Amino acid sequence: MLKRPLAALALAFPLFAAAEPLPVVASFSVLGDWVREVGGERVAVHTLVGAGEDTHMFQPAPAAAQQLARARLVVMNGLGFEGWMPRLAQAAGYKGELLVAMEGVEPLRAGAERDPHAWLSVGNAIHAVRRIAGSLCTADAAGCDEYRARAAAYTTRLQALDTEIRAAWSEVPQEQRQAVIPHDNFGYYARDYGVRIWAAQGADGESEPSARAMAALVRRVREGGIRALLVEPLEGSRLMAQIARETGLPISGKLYAEALSPAGGPATSYEAMMRHNTRTLVEAVQGVAKPVDVPHHDEHDTHHHHH
Ligand SMILES: [Zn+2]
Repeated sequence: MLKRPLAALALAFPLFAAAEPLPVVASFSVLGDWVREVGGERVAVHTLVGAGEDTHMFQPAPAAAQQLARARLVVMNGLGFEGWMPRLAQAAGYKGELLVAMEGVEPLRAGAERDPHAWLSVGNAIHAVRRIAGSLCTADAAGCDEYRARAAAYTTRLQALDTEIRAAWSEVPQEQRQAVIPHDNFGYYARDYGVRIWAAQGADGESEPSARAMAALVRRVREGGIRALLVEPLEGSRLMAQIARETGLPISGKLYAEALSPAGGPATSYEAMMRHNTRTLVEAVQGVAKPVDVPHHDEHDTHHHHH
């Protein structure tokens, strides 16, 4: 009985039938934001590692395989960031394109590995957005004009963002542009904007620094004119609290690099994240930031207590 009226409705409004959005899976929140910017209403993005979550520590759950099995496009960062993805996609029976968004960028080294945190370069973001638009065009040719137009508009905004970040740093003398952060994830940002950044922890997000490495970092802070110590929401608070104690410097802000912040936070989009990080770093190195309270343990430490 219902069939006839519905069919009539579909004929009267052909868009009704075509409005099913393209299911796309992105490995983590920054890529999810880019796919949403390029895809608009034509795509339904599912992000495997959500805002406020750590991709380095990700353990795929069965729900992730279900999302992949339904997807028409899967987008990952590459550079070793999501080592679990190819196996997960295969296990889920996913047969579509696995887009490596950062393929083709100039990789930085982090020890013996490639540094995966390429999204903290706006130039790399523009590169990835172009690749995402190309893959969406392949997966959904009918939407290609819209994807290209949205990617062009977003790229214009990203170019303005890059100009804005360069302008913010141009106010800061070169020798003052030095900061210590918990985890070695600002390499691309440091390269692009001429900042010297030291990290307590390596780029893989797992290795603990030795007592000797920590002592060397504390010595560098004391001797090298570094005044800015920053934390991140996901890790390294304990290490940064230790450096603050041993140097007498305050912790002067929280950076978002690994993931966007959950709703209501200061980094709910890629553009907001880059603006927040730049403002926080510039104020920190200028010594005008308000000190922040830092817990003496990490989320990961707390997490491990549950096991
Ligand atoms: Zn990382």
